Amino acid sequence: YAAKASREGVRVYVPDPHGGTGDRLHTMEELRTALDEGGQLLVHLQPQVDLEDGRVVGAEALVRWQHPTRGLLSPADLLPAAEQAGLLRPLADTVLELSLTAAARWWPERRVPVSVNLSAADVTDLDLPTKVARALDRHGLPAAALTLELVEDTLMADPERGRAVLGQLRRLGVRTSIDDYGTGYSSLAYLRHLPADELKLDRSLTLDVGRDPRAAAIVRHTVALAHDLGLTLVAEGVEDVDTAAVLARLGCDTAQGHAIARPMPVEAFVDWLQTPAPLSNP
Ligand code: C2E
Ligand code: MG
Ligand code: MG
Ligand code: MG
Repeated sequence: YAAKASREGVRVYVPDPHGGTGDRLHTMEELRTALDEGGQLLVHLQPQVDLEDGRVVGAEALVRWQHPTRGLLSPADLLPAAEQAGLLRPLADTVLELSLTAAARWWPERRVPVSVNLSAADVTDLDLPTKVARALDRHGLPAAALTLELVEDTLMADPERGRAVLGQLRRLGVRTSIDDYGTGYSSLAYLRHLPADELKLDRSLTLDVGRDPRAAAIVRHTVALAHDLGLTLVAEGVEDVDTAAVLARLGCDTAQGHAIARPMPVEAFVDWLQTPAPLSNP
């Protein structure tokens, strides 16, 4: 069985399609080699747009592993292996590097920040702010070119240290974002002390907003809460135009999802930025 980190923050154990312990160890070894040698890890980018005028306001970097025999692997296939092998930090370094390399292709002509997802290991890494500042420098990018996303659960192990790290990052000028809000251990108490700029409302809450008045009520109130706290509200997982329209009416600021574009390779995203497609049903 393979441990799979779910968005809910709990661990669900699913049968490992690639067999037993031996294969898992093999995957961990392969990942170590891939991180050492480079080339196999990449990011796909998914745009985030303003719901009022369609302006592109961000691009989320989502890690992918072009495995030599197993094809293109998604985070669910590789994050558990990275965690078990103690490779979350080198993975984060690689993703940050790939993401800033991408952003440097359109910045400063297009001031679209790239969003990078952090794991619990990153959020409690006291060296993270220095590492991030150096990486930005190396790419000639200002801190405003980077947003860091984290789910609240990642702070649970050491909230104080997490807050200190986030606070330092924000003082650098890096934007911070609370991902998958409304799932897992999200709590209103956390929001009080979290240095953040943005709240990403989880897909489980945006999904039924056009059909379920209770979902709509939750979204409407979360929007009000976010705005009262000075946070931008991003709707995640927006799959169709009608849902996007309802979310806009409920006051969501920006949206991300298949209705706008699926995550795509960096090259495709750079092209997409030139002529962003209007909202459409996939
Ligand atoms: P997330 O940060 O909430 O990212 C959004 C996920 O939803 C992505 O899945 C994306 O492909 C998917 N998605 C986007 N639009 C839609 C939509 O309209 N409908 C549906 N059904 N899904 C949509 P992905 O790429 O498989 O990533 C899954 C999770 O893995 C991410 O969730 C994030 O928590 C984590 N992750 C991704 N990249 C990294 C990384 O570089 N480092 C770390 N630590 N975690 C990462
Ligand atoms: Mg995210
Ligand atoms: Mg999310
Ligand atoms: Mg989500």
